[in-house]
Amino acid sequence: MSRHHRGGRANSRMTALTLYVYGLRCHLCLRLGADTRDHLIPKSKGGADTIDNCRPAHHRCNAKRQDRDLTPELLKEFRPDVIEISVDTSELFESDDVLDTPRSVHFLPEPHQKTTDREATETRAG
Ligand SMILES: [Zn+2]
Repeated sequence: MSRHHRGGRANSRMTALTLYVYGLRCHLCLRLGADTRDHLIPKSKGGADTIDNCRPAHHRCNAKRQDRDLTPELLKEFRPDVIEISVDTSELFESDDVLDTPRSVHFLPEPHQKTTDREATETRAG
């Protein structure tokens, strides 16, 4: 074991447990590759170093958050590409009438007019 972990063995064991329990997705930026644990309630604000209060986070994100409270505004800093979309899901589930009521006209491609050609030649022959 030549790797050095800041804070000693118990600390790295808690990080390993956090990553094991919650996976490697950073709870701040939602990307994979988390390598540290972050505290939902910062330790400086009385948060416990328990699995309930720990979530995986990138070292980078962890450092960026510092000990700020987890607010929607804070999370936006980490998730700039997550666009807030308000979806009215009721519309999705009220769609029975959409199936019954035709709302669009389907265009079928007209068949090639071979018969008309033949008719034309026949007419010419007769
Ligand atoms: Zn992250």
